[in-house]
Parts: sequence; structure tokens; C-alpha cells
Amino acid sequence: MDYKSYIKIVEDWPKKGIQFKDITPLMANGDAFRSVVDEIVTYAKEKEIDVIVGPEARGFIIGCPVSYALGVGFVPVRKEGKLPREVVKIDYGLEYGKNILTIHKDAIQPGQRVLITDDLLATGGTIQATIKLVEELGGIVVGCAFIIELSYLGGMEKLQGYDVLSLMSY
Ligand code: AMP
Repeated sequence: MDYKSYIKIVEDWPKKGIQFKDITPLMANGDAFRSVVDEIVTYAKEKEIDVIVGPEARGFIIGCPVSYALGVGFVPVRKEGKLPREVVKIDYGLEYGKNILTIHKDAIQPGQRVLITDDLLATGGTIQATIKLVEELGGIVVGCAFIIELSYLGGMEKLQGYDVLSLMSY
């Protein structure tokens, strides 16, 4: 399937110089969205995962249908102040701005095999931060799955040593 025909490119959003890849037309198309989810499900099956972890908010959109299809749990990584119980947290830089991410301290059991999902790999900061949170809790990151990789931002370099699936690249 030609996924790129469902991605709308928005120039200078949310800041000048950023070329935003809008995945909402892909999500709005039932066949395209199901195909993306199915590809990630196939990948996840090979990895024998115990749980999926996804960062707010588009990591939820990708990770939750995969988690439902496999019958494994989904753990949200959220911005500071959103999770109600004890968390571990990390701060990091974004392509545009800064962020603090948190995860519930009891969300991952040591030794669990974790798949991390997000819509898009840009600088890799979000995924690197998510990996650190998972590993701090003793989880084993066995794969990272994205719909889109922005290869010109070099995010893959931050993921060296990890197995990565991306369904399209710009
Ligand atoms: P990064 O931490 O730089 O890899 O950024 C990843 C997160 O920011 C992803 O969750 C994306 O949703 C979002 N993001 C960053 N850059 C873009 C972009 N150019 N177009 C769409 N989303 C982006």
C-alpha cells in the first residue's frame, strides 16, 4: 500500500522551518490504518512481546490497536503531572521544544519484553527517553515500531543496538 499518499505535509508547523507530517488522513482511512496496524502486529509477533509502551499521544494511537490484536497490555508514557501514582521521570530535548516524560513505577515488571510504538521517529529524543524509562524499570526493549522515520534528522543513530521497524521514510 502507498502509505505516503495518506500523509499530508504541512510546512512551517508548529514552528517555522518544521515540515510537519500529518498522519490523521492515514488514520481516517480504514484500510490504510488497518494495514499499518497489521504490519506492526506481524513485527510484534516475531518479537514475542509481553507489553507495549507508547508515549503520549500518538504512541497511544499506534500502540493500543496492536496491543488489542495481540492480547498484551499497553502502558502509557505521559507528560509530567498526568499520571496519578508514583512515577519515574526523564527530561529531554525535542525537534521543537523540550519535554518531561513519566511512567508509572509499577507499570513494567523486570525482564518483561517490551515493544515501543510511536507515530514518527524525528530526532529520536522521545524514543530514547521512553527506552530509558522502560530500562530503568527493568524492561527489555525488544523492538521499536514507527509509521514514519525522518531520516534527515538522524534519529536512528540514537537507536543503535535496538531493533527498529519503520513503515516509510522521508
Ligand atoms: P523526536 O523526539 O524528535 O523523535 O520527536 C518525536 C515525536 O514528535 C513524535 O511523537 C512525533 O509525533 C512528533 N514529531 C516530531 N517531529 C515531527 C514532524 N516533523 N512531523 C510530525 N510529527 C513530529
